[in-house]
Amino acid sequence: MEHDAYNPFTHAQKQFDHVATSLHLEEGMKDLLRSPMKEIHFSIPIKMDDGSTRVFKGFRMKHNEALGPAKGGIRFHPHESVDTVRALSMWMTWKCAVVGLPLGGGKGGVICDPQTLSLAEQERICRGYVRQIHTLFGPNTDVPAPDVMTNGQHMVWMLDEFETINQGHFPGMITGKPVNLGGSQGRTEATGYGVVYHLLALLAKKGLDIQNTRASIQGFGNVAQYAAELYSELGGKVVAVSCWNQKDQKSYTFRDLNGLNVAKLFEIKDAFGSLDIEKAKALGIEILPGEAWIEQDVEILIPAALENQITLESMAKMSNNVQIICEGANGPTAYEADAALFERGVTIIPDFLCNAGGVTCSYFEQVQGNTNFYWEKEEVLAKLQTFMNNAFENVYNVAKEKDINLRDAAYTIAITRVKEAVQARGWAS
Ligand code: NAD
Repeated sequence: MEHDAYNPFTHAQKQFDHVATSLHLEEGMKDLLRSPMKEIHFSIPIKMDDGSTRVFKGFRMKHNEALGPAKGGIRFHPHESVDTVRALSMWMTWKCAVVGLPLGGGKGGVICDPQTLSLAEQERICRGYVRQIHTLFGPNTDVPAPDVMTNGQHMVWMLDEFETINQGHFPGMITGKPVNLGGSQGRTEATGYGVVYHLLALLAKKGLDIQNTRASIQGFGNVAQYAAELYSELGGKVVAVSCWNQKDQKSYTFRDLNGLNVAKLFEIKDAFGSLDIEKAKALGIEILPGEAWIEQDVEILIPAALENQITLESMAKMSNNVQIICEGANGPTAYEADAALFERGVTIIPDFLCNAGGVTCSYFEQVQGNTNFYWEKEEVLAKLQTFMNNAFENVYNVAKEKDINLRDAAYTIAITRVKEAVQARGWAS
């Protein structure tokens, strides 16, 4: 949807400029914070299974490391672009800062479509990625994690390559690892559950009961699956989810007006978060066009797939009953739609607050790895909820105090924290 015209980096910079102006940041500080401080572009040559060679483009960006080592996922996506990675690295800086984590912002990507690559080819890309830029990585310098279309297995291949090159064990070099190799309990669920912890906090402020709400979700990948799981366990009704269908290269919406059985959806999904259409039909689920997720008669929308999905154009099709948008994905709401939705009385829990559960649990994974002492899942999730609640409360209070929306309030807190760290280090005044 509107992939060609949309530039996520311009989007991220507009959001930043808007708040930086109201905070009266000095020009030098503004210049420093509105772009990544380091960018690496490289090629990864891969021997394919058929003996041919293909060259994949890779990127790693470090937006700002004033608060700590760069932290951020590595995405594999056919539409990955330099500007997407730039924007995402910038959002990581604000995400870590708004939660109060001692981490900076980074992001990586490879232009590739893992759905068309064998596991052996994916492994070679992971190892090739690390071989190209291993000097950047390390527990105290730059710590990647899974993101779109990458998972714990990809992280293990990257870790193994790094440890082979450096001849040692460095579990803190990467997060999102499987639990038997130093991963944290609860990491798989963390981003999606974090979305729901924020939703619960907002519903409490609005005096609404989750059991009287319905939600429509874009995506059924890592974030969406666990947001849907916890939301429905707590009594919310998931009316629709949409996802990508690899076979015909189209997206579809899967709907049940009585509420989808989320556990059944887990049984008919593949490893990339695509639902099987025939199996869904057999379960009595209606199949609608991909865009239909946004048009559903629900109180809550959870975009948890792609950037730039809620635009002035698409929001015109939204039901008047929609009161809350939980941004599970990064950058799902267009800059212009943001103010229009605020005017309309819709509350948006902004991406870098709403989906911060993932990086917070990655931080827990680092702490557990560093101390070589691993926590029970209940402990991880309880700490996660505390971190999310504290961050939400701070943002909510600033929004009320200044009469601004939650996004601008989250930016106000995050930019101020990074600015103070930059000033203390003497990088800018
Ligand atoms: P994922 O690869 O696991 O899932 C992506 C989902 O989006 C899949 O269900 C896919 O079918 C769906 N999708 C793709 N194109 C679509 C389309 N045109 N219409 C409808 N659905 C479509 O990815 P994920 O890890 O769940 O990440 C989703 C978003 O959340 C991304 O913006 C990512 O950057 C962000 N995010 C992820 C994490 C994390 O921990 N995984 C943390 C923070 C933010």
